[in-house]
Formats: sequence, structure tokens, C-alpha cells
Amino acid sequence: MKVFIVYWHPEPRSFNAAMFQTACETLEAAGHEVKTSNLYAMGFDPVSGRKNFTTMKDPSYLKLQIEEMNANELGGFSDEIEAEIRKIEWCDLMIWQFPLWWFGMPAMLKGWVDRVFAMGRIYGGGRIYGTGVFHGKRAMLSLTTGGSEGGYQKGGFNGDIAGILRPIHRGMLQFVGFEVLAPHIVHNPVRMVDEQRKQALEAFAARLQTIALEAPMDVGIY
Ligand code: FAD
Repeated sequence: MKVFIVYWHPEPRSFNAAMFQTACETLEAAGHEVKTSNLYAMGFDPVSGRKNFTTMKDPSYLKLQIEEMNANELGGFSDEIEAEIRKIEWCDLMIWQFPLWWFGMPAMLKGWVDRVFAMGRIYGGGRIYGTGVFHGKRAMLSLTTGGSEGGYQKGGFNGDIAGILRPIHRGMLQFVGFEVLAPHIVHNPVRMVDEQRKQALEAFAARLQTIALEAPMDVGIY
């Protein structure tokens, strides 16, 4: 299996970094091919704009989706965007590794989606959801929280984590055709003792060893 891991955390010794490293090592040891985008280390620019393109249909008025379709026709994406799109096109499974920030993805990861999920290439022309460009590929969110597991259950004080992640699962991943695996969530690694963190990393590795066999989940729509 070809696995593309998009990872974001500003601290190379963070728990997210340990999860990223665990994923790379475990998947490679299991015989999978792995490509990565370590967004913070790459200094990925998350701000969408004219720089996404090497050629523009209308340089006087930026209409991003029009320019994305134009760039797709003319091969006019910037090298930075084209390289990321090719990694998505290459993979069978895409994993996003990040800490939950303000009930969502950190800005650099969100900006990666803003810039890389380009109309005409990644979605559009009637190709969304079940007929999406990436139909047949799977994706999984791997994240950490500051809140406890109980706080993220139905009736918990934060609300159901499934509802919090639905805009990502449904509005980004399924929208472009991915089938979505159950998210891998490590709750509050900051408050764990070292042995618990070690066990959490081992549990993540154990899941990844058989991830090729996992069935997608129903993310729910309402
Ligand atoms: P770290 O603090 O980097 O790591 C935790 C501990 O693990 C550290 O002691 C580290 O030394 C240790 N560690 C690292 N590697 C290993 C290893 N290999 N083995 C054992 N131990 C190791 N939380 C929410 O629940 N909801 C929110 O909406 C939310 N919003 C936030 C917004 C902002 C701007 C910020 C800064 C935080 C927010 N948080 C929120 C909290 C955040 O989600 C957690 O702080 C984060 O998920 C913890 O993961 P980390 O990788 O940053 O942990």
C-alpha cells in the first residue's frame, strides 16, 4: 500500500512528532511505501493566493476556483502545490497527523487543504462524494486532544467528537472522494505518565499494522 502522511506540529519532540515517527516506521516495516509532508519543517505557506499559479487567466481579479481550473488545463500550478497534489494522487491511504486546535486543524494544515484541494484537479465537474476524484482511496485523521475522552462523548461538555470532526471528514475528505477510516485519537497525552504515552504509541502501531484491512466508517450526514 502507498501511504501519504501529512503532519503538522511546531515541536520536533512533541507527542505528535512521536506519533508521526511511529507511523512512518511501522508502515515501512510492514512493507508499505510511505511519503510525507512535514508541513512545519517544510515551512509550507498556508495562505492561498496568486502564488498558487505560474500562469493566470485573469491576473487583474483573483477568482481562485477559475484559476485552479485554468491551472489544471495548462499545467499551471506552482511547484509547491503540484508536488502536494501528486502525493495525494500517488497514495492509497492518506493520514493527517495533528493536535486538535480550537476544535479543528491548526492553520497551516487547514491552509494546505485550502491551497492543494484545487477545483478541476481534486474536485469539480460533478466529481464529488461518491463520484469524487479520489474514489477508491482511504483517509484517516490521527490527532491528539487536550480534553479528556469523556468530555468528547455525546453529552460530554465539549460535545461529541464525531460532530467536531465531521466538517473535515465530510466537507474535505469525503467531498473529494476518500473513504474515511475511524479517526485515531489520543486524548490528553500531556497529562499521561510516560508509561501511558508509551502504551498509546504501541496501540497506534498495532492499529497501523493491520490498517490495510480496515473498513471505512459512516461519518453521518445531517
Ligand atoms: P506535547 O505537549 O508535545 O507532548 C505531551 C508529552 O508527551 C510531553 O511531555 C512530551 O515530552 C511527551 N512525549 C513526546 N514524545 C514522547 C514519546 N516518544 N514517548 C513518551 N512521551 C513522549 N485541546 C482540545 O481538546 N480542544 C481544542 O480545541 C484545543 N485547542 C487548542 C488550541 C491551541 C492554540 C493550543 C496550543 C492547544 C489546544 N488544545 C486543544 C490542546 C492541544 O490539543 C494539546 O495540547 C495537544 O493535542 C497535545 O499534543 P502535543 O503533541 O502538542 O503534546
